[in-house]
Amino acid sequence: MSALVLIVEDERDIAATLSYNLQREGYTTRLAANGTEALEGANREPRPDLVLLDLMLPDMAGTEVCRRLRSTASTREIAVIMVTAKGEEIDRVVGFEVGADDYVVKPFSVRELLLRIRAVLRRRQKSEVARERIRFQELQLDEAAHQAWLGEEELALTALEFRLLHTLLSRKGRVQTRDTLLEDVWNMDPGVTTRTVDKHVQRLRQKLGAAANYIETIRGVGYRFSTTQG
Ligand code: CA
Repeated sequence: MSALVLIVEDERDIAATLSYNLQREGYTTRLAANGTEALEGANREPRPDLVLLDLMLPDMAGTEVCRRLRSTASTREIAVIMVTAKGEEIDRVVGFEVGADDYVVKPFSVRELLLRIRAVLRRRQKSEVARERIRFQELQLDEAAHQAWLGEEELALTALEFRLLHTLLSRKGRVQTRDTLLEDVWNMDPGVTTRTVDKHVQRLRQKLGAAANYIETIRGVGYRFSTTQG
């Protein structure tokens, strides 16, 4: 699958040239002419793999766009290459303050840009594998960190609830019987009954709030993580 690059650039000619060159290299491109469109374009499915972000935009600074991408769970993993003009605040751009992965200074050669894009994407891919995040619509789970987010909000789940949610989500669309869940989530602890499963699913649903209906009850059988809700 080819990587999707969101090109954020208010100068149409430059945007068109970049898009043309990236497509020729096998990338898919999406265009945004200002910061508002950039945030919208980064949040739309399929999510871009990388944002090429011009620093000077008509409605907000590129640094601000980058900061918002980084502070939003659904976009925080997207790679960002900042495009700056000579003399702009490069230190701040690549510093921790904003969180861009790399930058290029205008005027740059297409070749240089392509090399940087390739390098950043490769780096990102590696860290993503290490992190093993799974997602479904607004829901995101980080297996290693045992953290879950709904949109931008982190869910306060117990270890058990996390395991339950993770088990259901990683088998989404497939019905899990109470016995299966007992085995895989509770490791068949003595004293745990199928009623325990029901109680915990109920509690998990409460914590999921708006996403509670992601978990469907299959009467008399068990539970299933839905593939259609939302
Ligand atoms: Ca500009």
